[in-house]
Formats: sequence, C-alpha cells, structure tokens
Amino acid sequence: MVINLSPQVEKALAMLNDAGFEAYLVGGAVRDLCLVGCSHVKDWDIATAAGTDEIKTVFAGFRIIETGIKHGTVTVIVDGEPLEITTFRHGDSLRQDLIHRDFTMNTLAYHREQGVIDLYGGAEDFKKRKLRCVGSSLERFCEDPLRILRGLRFASVLDMDIDEEAAAAMRRNKDLLQNVAVERIRNELTQMLCGPSIGRILREFSDVLAVPLPEIQSMIGFEQYHPYHCYDIWGHTVVVVEKVPAEPVLAWAALFHDMGKPFCFSRDPQGVGHFYGHAAKSAEIADRIMERLKFDHVSRKEISFLVEHHDRSIAPNEKSVKRALRQYGVERLSRLIRLGRADTLGHTRECWHYLEEFDQLEQMIQFAIAVGKPFSREDLAVNGKDLIQLGYEGPAIGEALNLLVDAVICDDLKNEKDALITYLRKRKSMKQT
Ligand code: ATP
Ligand code: MG
Repeated sequence: MVINLSPQVEKALAMLNDAGFEAYLVGGAVRDLCLVGCSHVKDWDIATAAGTDEIKTVFAGFRIIETGIKHGTVTVIVDGEPLEITTFRHGDSLRQDLIHRDFTMNTLAYHREQGVIDLYGGAEDFKKRKLRCVGSSLERFCEDPLRILRGLRFASVLDMDIDEEAAAAMRRNKDLLQNVAVERIRNELTQMLCGPSIGRILREFSDVLAVPLPEIQSMIGFEQYHPYHCYDIWGHTVVVVEKVPAEPVLAWAALFHDMGKPFCFSRDPQGVGHFYGHAAKSAEIADRIMERLKFDHVSRKEISFLVEHHDRSIAPNEKSVKRALRQYGVERLSRLIRLGRADTLGHTRECWHYLEEFDQLEQMIQFAIAVGKPFSREDLAVNGKDLIQLGYEGPAIGEALNLLVDAVICDDLKNEKDALITYLRKRKSMKQT
C-alpha cells in the first residue's frame, strides 16, 4: 500500500535512509492515512535508528528544536513543516519501539520502500473496529494511565469497540488517572466529548469517567419524577451531549447543564419532581470543575454562561428575539439555541414540538442579522451632547442612552429626536413624583 506523504516527510525519510539509518513514519499519521482514510494529518512522527546527534548531523543546516532530548525527540523544520524525529525507544529496533505504543492501530509504520508495516495486527483490529492494546492491557495502562482516556477518546471519535480485556484493565486501573496531569486529562475528555460515539462511552464507562469527574456520580440513577422526563439525570445528560453539535464549548456545557439538579430536588404534593434554581447551581459546579481542570478563561466563561442560562425560554417573537440578541449577542444566543434543542431531545416526545420554536428562533435571528447590524447607541437620533443639554451628567448619560436603545428595540419607541427626548422627560418626571 502506498500512501500520500507530504513531500517534506518523503525528503526527511530519504535523507535518513541515504545516511544509512532505518527510518519510518509512525504514529497517528500512519493510522489516519492508512486506516481512518483521513488525509488531514495533525503531526508527523518519524522513528529512526539514528541517535540524537546523528539526527542533528543528517539535518545540519535545518532548524532544529530540542523538543524532548530526554526521550530522544527533536523537531526538525523541513521546508516549513515541523517533523518530530525520535530515536527508537526501548531498544534498537522498530519492533521494540512499537510494542511500547498504546493501541494496535497506533503501531502501524511506513517505510519508503517496504510500504506499510503492520507488526501487531493493527489493520485487522481496525477493520473489526476493535480497540486493542499492544500486548498486555494491564501493563500498558499501568505504564501510562493517560492511555485509559486516550482509549475512550479513540473509541468515541473513531466509533470503535473497546476490547474486553482492555475495558476490564481500564476499570481496574482507573484510579491511576488521579496521577495524570489535568491538562492532558482535559484535552482527552474534550476530544472524547466531541466524538460521534460519545453516548455509548458515557453510558458504558461512567465509572471510569467518574475518576476525573466525580461530580457525575450523583447524577447517575437520580430519578426525576416528571412526566416530561424519561431518563434519570445522567441518562438525560448523555442524550444531550450526544445530540448537541460536536463543538467543545457546547459539549462541555451539555455535560454540565444539569449537574446541580441533585442538589435542588423537591417533590410537590402530587409527587412531581422539581429542581428550582438548578441552572445556577450547575454553573457553580461547572466552574469549580473547569478551574480544577485548568480550562482557559474564554472557554470557561462561555461554558458557565451556557450552563447558567440553559433553561431560559425565549419566545419566538420579534420583540423577545431582539431583546435576547441585545442581551446575549448573536453567537451566544445561537449556542444557547443549539443547546436548547439538544436538551429538548433529551425529554419525552411530548416536548419535541419545542424544536419548531427553536427553528423559528434561529430563522428570526438569521433575519435580524440579514437586515443589518444590531441597533446600538451610535444609531440613536440623540447623542451625549443632546443629553447634557437636557441636564444629564456623568454616568447618567450612558445609562440614559442604554435605556433609549432598549426602549427603541423592545418597546417600539420611535428613533426620532423629539420622541426620544419626550420619552426621557416623561421617565424623569415619573421618577420625581
Ligand atoms: P492524535 O495526534 O490524534 O492525538 P496520536 O495517536 O497521533 O493521536 P500522539 O500523541 O500524536 O497521538 O502520539 C503519536 C503516537 O505515539 C501514537 O499514535 C502512539 O503510537 C504513540 N503514543 C502517544 N501517546 C502514547 C501513550 N500515552 N502511550 C503509548 N503510546 C503513545
Ligand atoms: Mg498525533
């Protein structure tokens, strides 16, 4: 099998071979090109018999970054493309290097003349959609517990079944995840949450995921006692994560959105369950988790916002759409709608008619955008100077302008100088009396 390598990789492999060193393309690139059929390669990894100094000699004159000298890795920039070149680990052969990799599908290697080399049955496993460890699963996960989450991530993203032995070993070693850097955990979880098979993974491996995310435990099996709910809180959450568009911010918001429910539960005299104030509680818990997992500030703010506002209902009429647009902005409002739609799909069928309302809302937003930029202070028929003449000063000027924008958008006040001034005068005299 011949695969399409980037010319830079071809060149680097040829240079190493010409200098007398074995060299192979390995890792995710071979997997993605040969098995997954994805031509977008994130990173190019080359394994070679050459030692670090020899690699440096072969690529003398190229820009070289010492990425991980301890592990025998240097990054060489070949014609603008960074290539990670690593000396065979765990011995001096490709075979020994590959046996210490995580899953069989990640042990494929490519040689310029020999083509694809598959020493551990990775292609066959992938064809059967089986995620299998190289050698002993227990040993692999003990060596590096991050592999447990990598495994769940691959299963979710590539829609694979986790081999029974590997699944059992994941469960046995799950507590080792406590020793893994939170950044690496967060990175795997984010990718996993955006995979097409995330529902299955959340259902089957909630016990493993509860190690980095113990907060999910109280959702599992928590009955809602509500005619519109057909799942317990965790079951509902899983559906919402499954249904929300595969985008990190939305996926995390979906996972978090009802986390506060178990702490806000009450039942009315008819026995119906309620969760008053759960959105705010969920946002509080979400924020704590994101702090612990060291999320970046922007994502953290966005996700908290979505969780806190997920149960706001916005009527599909012009006035409330304009108000919401002004309050949230286009992007946030659209996200809120996409989350709302997924949330609706996690309820009983009787609720699904709300999906039409979300469609209408989305159309109205599109219309509002098409018609022009959102109305703002600069568009008013009065400005700060006019207000000073009316006797306003300091912060009161800004407040009055904001008030006018709201009134024009939401209360049909005409954007004409006289009308605006009359409106302010009326409000002033109302305040004084
Ligand atoms: P992606 O780049 O999509 O995250 P990948 O499989 O390419 O996935 P990398 O972190 O780029 O992952 O690693 C490249 C290769 O190194 C992998 O394909 C695998 O063979 C090996 N590898 C990476 N991380 C581990 C690990 N924790 N344990 C064992 N082998 C690993
Ligand atoms: Mg990679």
